[in-house]
Amino acid sequence: NADAAMYRAKELGKNNCQFYAHEMNASLEEKLALMEGLRRAVDESQLRLLYQPKVDLVTGRVFGVEALVRWQHPERGMVRPDQFIPLAEESGMIVAIGEWVLREACRQARSWQDAGLPPISMSVNVSPRQFDDRRLVGRVAAALAEAGLDARWLELEVTESLIMRDVQQAVDKMRELETMGIALSIDDFGTGYSSLAALKSFPISRLKIDKSFVRDLAHSTDDQAIARAIISLSHQLQMRVIAEGVETEQQREFLAQYGCDEMQGYLFSKPVPPDDIGAMLALRMLA
Ligand code: C2E
Ligand code: MG
Ligand code: MG
Ligand code: MG
Repeated sequence: NADAAMYRAKELGKNNCQFYAHEMNASLEEKLALMEGLRRAVDESQLRLLYQPKVDLVTGRVFGVEALVRWQHPERGMVRPDQFIPLAEESGMIVAIGEWVLREACRQARSWQDAGLPPISMSVNVSPRQFDDRRLVGRVAAALAEAGLDARWLELEVTESLIMRDVQQAVDKMRELETMGIALSIDDFGTGYSSLAALKSFPISRLKIDKSFVRDLAHSTDDQAIARAIISLSHQLQMRVIAEGVETEQQREFLAQYGCDEMQGYLFSKPVPPDDIGAMLALRMLA
């Protein structure tokens, strides 16, 4: 099938503008090569998880981490998710990748607990195709059981656009997950479009303010207004609110002043390997 597409693209190329055809073939070939590699990445253990701390503004403590996938490519080095998650989503490979992420994240969370470190919540990103998969709930349950991790430590991050496509279906699935004891949060809030009426019917414990509103917070009165509105909306709906992409002290101060509950960003830590999180949690026990 992929070969056929390739062949068609090449044929098209011969009969059309050479420059355009060349560009198209290059990107298609690149895509096919990535896809081929990605297929092996899971089996050949080339995927890695980094973890970014989430900090509670009141206690100043790391209360959780977000698992962020990386692809340790044999030739290209560390590949960022923006370069392969969309492709994985398009091709359906995200289901296998997502399952690996879920199992690995649960295993890691339990392993920190086994080391005697204070328990923290583990957030895992779930993409649309993964969410739609009928086996999602079963796979989440299996990942928890296999790791021996209590469901209260797992949080799934979904985007607004994902849950707004089919509100009823999303509500049903999220209720199932919530019943199991899993927390749900909305990622990149403010960048998609939400029906505010629908928002209150989802069992959501947390909204994540997208980093695009945080970036210019110190100078943009528009972004200040948006951040304040999201914080206020979250609290009105009995949810917690976290800001992502916090890089400066000034941004932290603004958000704290508006009553934001939690933060995540380079100001605190970039995404790091599991041992670094272990060390941070060990320090927290001494504090
Ligand atoms: P996201 O879930 O919104 O994750 C936040 C992104 O912001 C991460 O990029 C993180 O490294 C980055 N970030 C954190 N703090 C800062 C900061 O202070 N400044 C800036 N400029 N960026 C910051 P990353 O790791 O490249 O991931 C990009 C996206 O890829 C994620 O966005 C998520 O949508 C997706 N992704 C990552 N891992 C997974 C996964 O396991 N499964 C799925 N389905 N998607 C994933
Ligand atoms: Mg996320
Ligand atoms: Mg986000
Ligand atoms: Mg994002």
